[in-house]
Amino acid sequence: MLVRFWGVRGSIPTPGPKTVRVGGNTACVEIQPGGGQLFIMDAGSGIRELGLNMMGRGNIGRVDAKIFLSHTHWDHIHGWPFFVPAFIPGNKFCFYGPVNFNERLEDIVAGQMKYSYFPVKLEHMAAKIDFVELKESTFEVDGVKITAKYLNHPILTLGYRFEYAGKVVVTEFDTEPYTNVFKKKDKAESGGDEVDDFLFGGGGGGEEEGEEAHADQVVDDMNRRIKEFARDADLLIFDAQYTKEEYMPPAGGMNKVGWGHSTLDDAVETAITANVKRVALFHHEPTRADNAVDEMENYCKKLVAEKGRPDIHIFAAHEGMEVDI
Ligand SMILES: [Zn+2]
Ligand SMILES: [Zn+2]
Repeated sequence: MLVRFWGVRGSIPTPGPKTVRVGGNTACVEIQPGGGQLFIMDAGSGIRELGLNMMGRGNIGRVDAKIFLSHTHWDHIHGWPFFVPAFIPGNKFCFYGPVNFNERLEDIVAGQMKYSYFPVKLEHMAAKIDFVELKESTFEVDGVKITAKYLNHPILTLGYRFEYAGKVVVTEFDTEPYTNVFKKKDKAESGGDEVDDFLFGGGGGGEEEGEEAHADQVVDDMNRRIKEFARDADLLIFDAQYTKEEYMPPAGGMNKVGWGHSTLDDAVETAITANVKRVALFHHEPTRADNAVDEMENYCKKLVAEKGRPDIHIFAAHEGMEVDI
């Protein structure tokens, strides 16, 4: 499988001299499983450059690509209106993305192309464009086994596991570890006993503690499943938005719990637990300058070595990087 990074940044494009080496485009990864298939993971601003590259591949009007969306936050779809191959008749694209409770996937992608936001509507793109809504499931596309799994983000978000010819690529970004938000020590913040009673049916002290332990167990199990999803992957593309100090400042202050992103330590722990071969740190924080991304990478390399797994190749994804597995 060949993996190419066209956009590695989270949240918003960040052009400029401070990010020129790592790149400022938002999430877009090209995956060529190896049997002639073309998969695109997310349609952040990086997909614009991918589109221009595709125009030079000698198959204009004959492209048949599948686009997998982790979710529909802007940084994962806002490059789509600038994707030139979608304007070429004869090309075919099929979006796969999470089902939403109140809006169709097609309407969400089309919504950013309403006249208030963009001059050309989705229906005026000349390529054939289809949409498939996904829940957690395993299915096959173009001979590739794909498993979609829910992650922990403020909107329904999917991680994907692509398996082809004995190779495995897994995406897990825009996610953070699950926490038991109704633990006793957090009661003041979470609404106290009222919330507890609503969720767990109230009751006396002993019973309440039992429910709390049960909730802890459920949370542990959900986190274990997130790690297992990457089991033995050749490449894991993982959310590396925060350092652990940014996520949970030791001296107090604003934490980032609930914002839907992981830490470098989570990336390392997942990689070791799941026994992955390579980890691409992905979805870099917008304010992270090139040298700060280098520091993140060094921190992770040191951490895997300290934990006895220096063989795990962990690196910060850069725009333009290619990984052949
Ligand atoms: Zn994002
Ligand atoms: Zn998001």
